[in-house]
Amino acid sequence: MSGALDGNAIAGTLRDVFGAEMTTAHGTCAGCGSRAPLAETVVYLRAPGVVVRCRSCTAVLVVLVTIRGTTCVDLGGLSELAGREP
Ligand SMILES: [Zn+2]
Repeated sequence: MSGALDGNAIAGTLRDVFGAEMTTAHGTCAGCGSRAPLAETVVYLRAPGVVVRCRSCTAVLVVLVTIRGTTCVDLGGLSELAGREP
């Protein structure tokens, strides 16, 4: 699909929101149960928001919307967001 990036494209945004490096954090898709580092998700930059989709089933995992300098995060598509792997 055109315009698709991967999680590395929003590494800086995620770092700002979570205060940590998140591309290596593992998210579990609530739709298909696929577990993968956020760096390997499919990312679409669509102003004013960012949509993060599951690479396995294309379900929406995370939506980031920046309004007047504040970034709102919807993690509703993730059943689990694990911290950095050791
Ligand atoms: Zn999925």
